[in-house]
Amino acid sequence: MLGVVALGVLIVVTVDRMVGHSTIAFAAAILLLLIANVPMLRFNCPSCGKNAFFRGIFVIPWPNRICTRCGEDLGRVLPKNADG
Ligand SMILES: [Zn+2]
Repeated sequence: MLGVVALGVLIVVTVDRMVGHSTIAFAAAILLLLIANVPMLRFNCPSCGKNAFFRGIFVIPWPNRICTRCGEDLGRVLPKNADG
C-alpha cells in the first residue's frame, strides 16, 4: 500500500520535472491511487457506514481508528494487518 503511494508521488514528481507543473498528472496519480485502493474502500464503519479511509474530502492510505462521523471504534472491525 505504501509502495503504491510512493509510486503515485514518483509519477507526479517525474512528470512535474519533465513538463512542468501538471494538474493532469496529479489527477492521474490520484486516480491510480483510488483504483489501487478499491479493496480498502470497502472498509466502512459498522455503525454509520462512513468509509474508514475518508477524512473529510480526503482519502488516506490508512484507516481511521475512530470513525470521524459517529466515533465508533474501528480498530476492532478493521484488519489488523492494515498499514499504519
Ligand atoms: Zn461511524
